[in-house]
Amino acid sequence: MSSDTRRRFRHTKIIATIGPATESLEMLQELIRSGVDIIRLNMAHGSVEWVGEIIGRIRQASNNVGRQVAVMMDVKGPEVRTGPIPSPVELKVGDRLQLHTGPFESQDDGIYRVSVNYPDLPCDVEVGATVLIDSGLLRTRVLEKTDSCVTLEIVTPGTLGSRRHINLPGTQVNLPALTEKDEADLRAGVAAGLDFVALSFVRQAADIVTLRDFLKELHCEARVIAKIEDQAGVRNMTEIIRETDGVMVARGDLGIEIEYHKLPLVQTELVKACQSQGKPVIIATHLLESMIHSPIPTRAEISDVCNAVREQADAIMLSGETTTGSYPLESVEVLKNIVGSIEPSINGQINARIQLYTPKSKMLRSSVALAKEIGHSGVVVFTRSGFLAYVLGAMRAGEVPIYAFTDIPNTFHQLMLPWGVEPFLMDFSDDPEQTIQNSLGQLKNKGWCKPGDWLVVITNALADDKIIDTLQLRQIKGLT
Ligand code: PEP
Repeated sequence: MSSDTRRRFRHTKIIATIGPATESLEMLQELIRSGVDIIRLNMAHGSVEWVGEIIGRIRQASNNVGRQVAVMMDVKGPEVRTGPIPSPVELKVGDRLQLHTGPFESQDDGIYRVSVNYPDLPCDVEVGATVLIDSGLLRTRVLEKTDSCVTLEIVTPGTLGSRRHINLPGTQVNLPALTEKDEADLRAGVAAGLDFVALSFVRQAADIVTLRDFLKELHCEARVIAKIEDQAGVRNMTEIIRETDGVMVARGDLGIEIEYHKLPLVQTELVKACQSQGKPVIIATHLLESMIHSPIPTRAEISDVCNAVREQADAIMLSGETTTGSYPLESVEVLKNIVGSIEPSINGQINARIQLYTPKSKMLRSSVALAKEIGHSGVVVFTRSGFLAYVLGAMRAGEVPIYAFTDIPNTFHQLMLPWGVEPFLMDFSDDPEQTIQNSLGQLKNKGWCKPGDWLVVITNALADDKIIDTLQLRQIKGLT
């Protein structure tokens, strides 16, 4: 790298879900080299055996490439599904379909019958409610119900196959936050080393508490991400955001559970709510869906990704594009190119929504304002828990990198998520001045800063035998 060019900096982070197209050691290395920050394991398709093996392989791929990534386990959560049927059936408008929670017999009365895995379904759904089968493809309405059976009328025709996913928009379900499969997956993931756990279908803050309690029992310090994907999650967003470490706008299910034309409004509402509480937010699903089969994105997809970058989401996520798609690396490249073009055009005003209560958090806001005013600067912070770097990232100071140094490997991985944070793993010296000098040396040697650059450093200092918070100005040494 020439001495007069600084290393390219990206505020918006990239998450890639892995699957058959990307789970080999070679492809993981390529994904990591391409700049993916977090690798997501979607446990809707993963087993306990896979988890242990794949996390080991991700860490090996990182070590081979010399670049670390974080690992996020996305646990499947509670799910309502139809049971098996001998062969797919074509359902026409007006046909009747019965969902049975107990034993049933086929009859020659023109009504189709299938089992359902949720015993409380008849109790929870109201007559007239919408029931969507197979990710919304088959739209139905509840005609009548008994204690063990719900009779549906087909509204939009389609094919019913075995074990199809059911969405119940607007229906309050009382499923547990964590299933037995989730707990088994988490045990395996924790043993192999997880950085983030994303919980599906979070409906209330208590769901996050349930997950946290379970992780505590396993002595796991993974950060928790609430997937908001139904109306209850949207309704309770403020309490959920307060309890969680971050949010995923899970647009796949959310786009089925709410009116599709309101999805952009809900996305913006969730992003703003996270920004005002200073919590990271991830935009997920269908960002580059056409790239599962095509080497180039559609114009609408480019605009969708641009919108997420302009809204200043912390991270954008790939799913099918990198699990089974034919162009996983190209998809990452496309995200990087869009981010690269759009970020410099964003009005880099400091987050005006964030609620700051303590003098220290107000000092953090001053630090990014100062770095912004200096130009070609950045904020250096030392953190063991990651907390200070998360707050600094939440300030959304455009063009101000947050260089976060930690000596804790788990924290280092968790710093891959927040907007604008560039993490470094480094031993801390007993002498605080030496720690600062080491961090500035790394920034210069790795090409993030050039000699003569001014940086704002957040650190502790001893004054009159007391530890005080300080904000300092430091200049990178060397010939300019
Ligand atoms: C989603 O629904 O958008 C999502 C991310 O969840 P999953 O991939 O588990 O369906």
